[in-house]
Amino acid sequence: MTRVNRLRKVVIVGGGTAGWMTAAALGRFLTRDGQTEVTLVESEAIGTVGVGESTIPQINIFNRMLGLDENDFVRKTKATFKLAIEFVDWKAIGHSYHHPFGPYGVDMEAVSFHAYWLKLHGMGLEPDLGAYSLNAVAAQQGRFMRPNGQANSPLGAIAYAFQFDAGLYARYLRDYAEARGIVRQEGKIATVQQDGLTGFVTSVTLESGAVVEGDLFIDCSGFRGLLIEQTLQTGYEDWSNWLLNDRAVAVPCTLGGSNAPVTRATARPAGWQWRIPLQHRLGNGYAYSSAHISEDEATAYLLAHLDGEPLAPPNQIRFTAGRRKKSWNRNVVAIGLSAGFMEPLESQSIHLIQVGIARLLAMFPDRNFHQPDIDRYNRVMAFEYEKIRDFIILHFKATQRNDTPYWDYLREMPIPDYLADKIALFQSHGRIFRENEELFNDTSWFAVMVGQGLLPGGYDPMVEVMGDEELVRRMADIKAVIARSAEVMPDHFDFIRANCDAM
Ligand code: FAD
Repeated sequence: MTRVNRLRKVVIVGGGTAGWMTAAALGRFLTRDGQTEVTLVESEAIGTVGVGESTIPQINIFNRMLGLDENDFVRKTKATFKLAIEFVDWKAIGHSYHHPFGPYGVDMEAVSFHAYWLKLHGMGLEPDLGAYSLNAVAAQQGRFMRPNGQANSPLGAIAYAFQFDAGLYARYLRDYAEARGIVRQEGKIATVQQDGLTGFVTSVTLESGAVVEGDLFIDCSGFRGLLIEQTLQTGYEDWSNWLLNDRAVAVPCTLGGSNAPVTRATARPAGWQWRIPLQHRLGNGYAYSSAHISEDEATAYLLAHLDGEPLAPPNQIRFTAGRRKKSWNRNVVAIGLSAGFMEPLESQSIHLIQVGIARLLAMFPDRNFHQPDIDRYNRVMAFEYEKIRDFIILHFKATQRNDTPYWDYLREMPIPDYLADKIALFQSHGRIFRENEELFNDTSWFAVMVGQGLLPGGYDPMVEVMGDEELVRRMADIKAVIARSAEVMPDHFDFIRANCDAM
């Protein structure tokens, strides 16, 4: 067995959410014996993208991995809790639904709850799907509490995520990482040096003349992809034929309207608008297609559709949906926006950072950089991105809107085969299969398919094992339990005040 040729120096380029999440994870696991130095280079003059505030429940895995105190985290990042995403005007103007974290009802007799619901729907009873989800009901009523651990109660397993201030989150993780030996180097990288033979990056030189050498470079430099693209020219797979939006305008505003634990995504004439409640303000933005609306029009539209007063000038952001052809090229691993980007309709980007970090730790290199590990990392990351992409495309494709050319295009566009198969399977007997470890599970697909009005022609024959009368009775019982459980939950902001010593 050859001896491990351990990395001596790791350099993280960029101090946005991706950079500091990576630094925190390396601080937790890599630097404790002092044998590997980790330096993070960031430029205050360049700054960060300044958005990215809404997450999915998997963030709890990351926080637990770091050993964070949740109340401290909520306090310092001005975070709120999140039980669902509310989709308004996506199927049709005036219609809305929730994509809840956590399940609908319960499976019965080894048959999925979804199948029973579809039968009930087929019986013409028009059941409101959201009424069977504690998360959806609580989100609608503006309530929140952490799971109470009670077995056999929906209150025992409430799935939740957070909405937080991206700048405060980076600052919070920076404190964590610096306390664990990560060295922060302020300054703008002017040039990048490579080995003449292998093309490996050997160092970066700052405008100040300081040189930072490394064995492994983690490119968290944002959309510009300073190392992965500008230096290594890895290439980008462009998905803008399916994901039309290529710009966003973001603006924070004062609190106003609902404080429910939910991120709202409202479909607009040429894109969609997000609304993210934090403790101290709302995060808002309009992701739009520049082929269908101008920057000025989109900005004016957003400013006219805020629930509070703007707190900063609008932040204009440009992007191309897609992913880097390889996330890991030579000794450079791209994590965050440098690795790819899809509009944050399902709040998935921070999760992709987390996955990038977890996979990197699982395949952490030594100085020999074993190519099969790198290839596997790239395959796994490509799978993650593509499956999420298809789930996001579903929201645009499965619409009945025909009020603008933007929606006409999306309704009629050809879609990737994987998504087409998934829709076809659902439309026959309402079946959904989660493949391998794709992020979004059956509940997520069911929520969005039903929410967008895609209903199947039939249902799972296994459901027939239960008679109609029993089915109606048991479904009514489930709904009643959900309603009673929601009543126990306090108001979302009251919960934060009472439990997190915040606000
Ligand atoms: P950035 O924040 O752009 O950081 C790049 C860093 O690199 C900065 O520190 C910069 O100074 C540094 N840098 C760059 N060049 C140099 C140089 N030459 N020298 C030195 N330093 C340099 N994600 C979610 O999960 N949920 C959301 O709700 C969500 N909403 C979003 C909305 C929009 C409109 C957009 C565009 C993204 C959204 N995201 C969301 C994605 C999320 O914002 C990003 O995944 C996250 O912020 C990570 O960004 P980053 O760290 O990769 O890049």
